[in-house]
Amino acid sequence: MRKQLLEKLCCPFDKGELEVTIFTEDDNDRIYEGLLTCKICNRYYPIIYGIPIMSPDEYRELKLEAPILERWGLSIDQKQNLFVLDDQSRKKLIS
Ligand SMILES: [Zn+2]
Repeated sequence: MRKQLLEKLCCPFDKGELEVTIFTEDDNDRIYEGLLTCKICNRYYPIIYGIPIMSPDEYRELKLEAPILERWGLSIDQKQNLFVLDDQSRKKLIS
């Protein structure tokens, strides 16, 4: 996805502003892999193969997303059973 597109995206749940973490990008200023995080509800939305996965919760599967996040060294908050990262992962994103 193009970086300029980020400004137009918001959280599908609460329309909150999204923060981006880029893991890989190409020479044309396109994000290939990354993570969008909502500042209001803390939900995360992965960018995989250049596509932001921003489906509502009911169309997402924690079990499918967990291995992708693991590859990035992140993990889901198991207690919440929501698309939210655990505290340790969130700290990693900030630093
Ligand atoms: Zn949100």
